[in-house]
Amino acid sequence: MTKRKDRSTAVRKLKRRVQSGESREYYKRRLKKAKASCAICHSALRGISYGAKSERTPNRKFGGNLCHRCQSKVVVEAQRVREKTKSIDDVQMLYRRYVQGQL
Ligand SMILES: [Zn+2]
Repeated sequence: MTKRKDRSTAVRKLKRRVQSGESREYYKRRLKKAKASCAICHSALRGISYGAKSERTPNRKFGGNLCHRCQSKVVVEAQRVREKTKSIDDVQMLYRRYVQGQL
C-alpha cells in the first residue's frame, strides 16, 4: 500500500526502469508555484494569486510589480526629484531605478 503521504495530488508518481531491468515507482513532491512578490522588499503581493478567477492585477502604478508601500515611496521620491527638493543621487539605490522611470 502506498504511504499516506504519497497519496496526495501534490505528489507525482514516477516510473523508472532500474539497471536490473525491473521497473520501480518513485514519488516526487511537486514544486509549489512561487508567489508574486515585491521587486524591492520581496513581500507577497496582494491581489495576485495563481489559479484565481480573474487575471486582473491592481490597477495602479507598478501594480503587480511593487507592493503598496514601496510604490508610494517611489511616487513620493519621484515627486521630490521633479520639484528639485531632492537630487536623484540622494534617492536610495533600491528605489532609484523606479524613480528614474517616473521622471
Ligand atoms: Zn515592497
